[in-house]
Amino acid sequence: MIKMAEDFFRKLFNIVINKSCPYYPCHFDGQTCIWCFCPFYPCEDQELGKYIERKDGSKVWSCENCWWIHREDVACEVLKEILKLVKDKDIDEMIEILKDHKLMLEIKEKVKERVR
Ligand code: SF4
Repeated sequence: MIKMAEDFFRKLFNIVINKSCPYYPCHFDGQTCIWCFCPFYPCEDQELGKYIERKDGSKVWSCENCWWIHREDVACEVLKEILKLVKDKDIDEMIEILKDHKLMLEIKEKVKERVR
């Protein structure tokens, strides 16, 4: 294997399962970290997370108990759905698509129907 390929695979695997992260495993051993930042945040889906109170009394959406997005089968389905939307876009357009919260929540529902 050439060095450039090895470097690439190191980067890739560090995203997929980032065992060098100080928080790993933040949910369960063997989890995938592809969606370290969840594209659905805040999903407001009571089956997955909940609002909690900060010290100042304001509310924040907590994903502490959401294992769903870190499951390999779920993460891959989410990736497939997002790739369908961004495949012919440039990077700025891709990010704009990810910022479309309504669209992201539609993807979440679609994937949730398939992989529970
Ligand atoms: S609860 Fe789960 S799916 Fe919802 S925003 Fe948090 S990590 Fe994403």
